[in-house]
Amino acid sequence: MENINAAEIFGENVFNDAIMRERLPKKTYQKLQEVIRDGIELDIQTADVIAHEMKEWAIEKGATHFTHWFQPLNGLTAEKHDSFITAPQQNGKVLMSFSGKELIKGEPDASSFPSGGLRATFEARGYTAWDCTSNAFVRQDSAGATLCIPTAFCSYTGEALDQKTPLLRSMEAVSEQGIRLLRLLGNTTSNRIIPVVGAEQEYFIIDRDKYLKRKDIIYTGRTLFGTMPAKGQELDDHYFGTIRDRIGAFMRDVNIELWKLGVPAKTQHNEVAPAQHELAPIFAVANVAVDHNHLVMETMKKVAYRHNLHCLLHEKPFAGVNGSGKHNNWSLVTDDGINLMDPGKNPHENTLFHLVLCCVLKAVDEHADLLRESAADVGNDHRLGADEAPPAIISVFLGTQLQDILEQLKESGSAAHYIHRENLDTGVNTLPDFKKDATDRNRTSPFAFTGNKFEFRMVGSQDSIGEPNVVLNTIMAEAFSDVCDRLEYASDMNAEIASILKEYATAHERIVFNGDGYSKEWIAEAEKRGLPNIECMVDSIEALTTEKTFSLFEKFGVFNRTELTSRAEIEYELYAKQINIEARAMVNIASKQILPAVMCCERKIAEGINEIKSAVPGTDTSVQEEILTELSSLLKEAKNGVKTLTDAADEGVRIMGEGDSKKAAYHFYNVVTKEMEALRNAVDSMEVMVSKEDWPLPSYGDLLFEV
Ligand code: ADP
Ligand code: MG
Repeated sequence: MENINAAEIFGENVFNDAIMRERLPKKTYQKLQEVIRDGIELDIQTADVIAHEMKEWAIEKGATHFTHWFQPLNGLTAEKHDSFITAPQQNGKVLMSFSGKELIKGEPDASSFPSGGLRATFEARGYTAWDCTSNAFVRQDSAGATLCIPTAFCSYTGEALDQKTPLLRSMEAVSEQGIRLLRLLGNTTSNRIIPVVGAEQEYFIIDRDKYLKRKDIIYTGRTLFGTMPAKGQELDDHYFGTIRDRIGAFMRDVNIELWKLGVPAKTQHNEVAPAQHELAPIFAVANVAVDHNHLVMETMKKVAYRHNLHCLLHEKPFAGVNGSGKHNNWSLVTDDGINLMDPGKNPHENTLFHLVLCCVLKAVDEHADLLRESAADVGNDHRLGADEAPPAIISVFLGTQLQDILEQLKESGSAAHYIHRENLDTGVNTLPDFKKDATDRNRTSPFAFTGNKFEFRMVGSQDSIGEPNVVLNTIMAEAFSDVCDRLEYASDMNAEIASILKEYATAHERIVFNGDGYSKEWIAEAEKRGLPNIECMVDSIEALTTEKTFSLFEKFGVFNRTELTSRAEIEYELYAKQINIEARAMVNIASKQILPAVMCCERKIAEGINEIKSAVPGTDTSVQEEILTELSSLLKEAKNGVKTLTDAADEGVRIMGEGDSKKAAYHFYNVVTKEMEALRNAVDSMEVMVSKEDWPLPSYGDLLFEV
């Protein structure tokens, strides 16, 4: 195997700072830095120079095309390729060109992307605009090499049609309000606050040949039928287990691809469920981390294909085994390196940290519904609250050290002491001594403090982390702003800080929960505390359009009402459409594959009975007959299930046709998913009765254990 030097290949396909410094004229480079740093507009002359150099560099990497790469509201990325060639010259030859205008602005037709009513088909115009804070890169694959330019995507009237525009807006908001707070506390050195994010990505890998035999996975990303094999994850023998060769080879290739693209893929391991794995990159500035996470997902899919594997990013590909999430590690750091989420060496004396902590609690408590919504997607409904993932209740885990500080703040608005880190005694002399973390971990908390960052663990594995970070940044901007409003008018700053800390700690302590988030007791306790428990995606969508949400986002210029209303509309539509696809896939598989297979099996049993009887008249065949009767009754159940499910889905489509996507979404949730469950039960009961040869789908055992 070829030796790989990670340091050498890292970022080799990225038009990064080092390349820009080397290739751009000094003046151009400085101008671009100003644009990035101060958020000023880029003039077209500078853009022309950058575009030219970018093109030259990309062509050296083999690129023939460029594309604006953006994140429309379908949860995926989108691109439209243009080649660098110009119209043929007089001599019949073409030139390769790429202008500043092409770099900074694109005009994809916006009408076929979800817009939630923002754009009608006849109003097709939409723009992509270069996000110069995220590096352009060259992607090499079987389509050749393409220069990809990360962009934001807006409608003709300026509304955001993507995940990135609001994210950039929210980053500016939290920076502005955070700096305001820092200045009040006497900081004169920091100029910006930067949200940084590290997204841990969970996924499943299955064999591609088996995947191709499962139309449910092909169409919906998950199994719609299937029973658990004899062995599941009960032995916990997969978690952190030795990585099998075939998977190892896949991971190696994923890492190489990602490193070339400048994605700092760092950690990889086997996860809890069989065939489940995780990849975590080193954290980056929030918008870059969102872009990188998309690259991680795309790269995994692509590389899996090359290894004759298939990568499943769905939140719950298999009923009965753990699903996949995405842990959004988030903190706020200043441009001069202060991490606002770091309690420091003397956590009890760190007033800034106390304020930040109380702001986090206030923000999360007041907008728990919105945060929950930001993690909602169709697949995540199967995961949240299913004994393996955080429940659908938002709470914050602080751990012993911060809990102790919080108690003190509640009491007096300040803290006088803190719980020290202890030495860990392993009882073995030859093992090194080290200090324990001040707090243990809590894997059951949806929003956990983990030393110098918060980990939002509710996000679904295939969802974009864009929205959760928009919410996190904006609710923090609001909390900072509220504190500043008070401090700016305070006659006695220290007294006002103490009073804010005391007040926030008391008012928002209810959002803190350090116990077992998976337990039944917590659900009851949370209800007593008045915390929202929003069990499904459809119920969560309303949080986007409350007065509280409107005023939050409008105040900081992150979303206007129209954008929020359209986003809610998109979510309802998405839910209805997705469940409709699942329902149709079930109907299809049941009627074309399962029912015929069961009938074939029945015929074999019946023939068997006849053969036995004619060979040895009088033999007792009552057992075979019992099986036959049982199968027939399940067959009937399944056949009826197909009919009722079809009718239910048809009704949903009819409601959609009337233009009421919220009503349609509720119909799909309340009626269609129940019918899906009924059909699945009938089919799954037959699976365990029909011989393996006759069953048309690879089983859970085949998929999970034979990779
Ligand atoms: P843990 O073991 O607590 O999950 P890791 O060190 O494995 O923490 O980090 C998980 C993810 O969090 C990684 O992507 C890592 O880069 C990221 N991360 C680490 N520190 C921070 C921070 N201060 N802010 C945001 N993300 C961070
Ligand atoms: Mg983690």
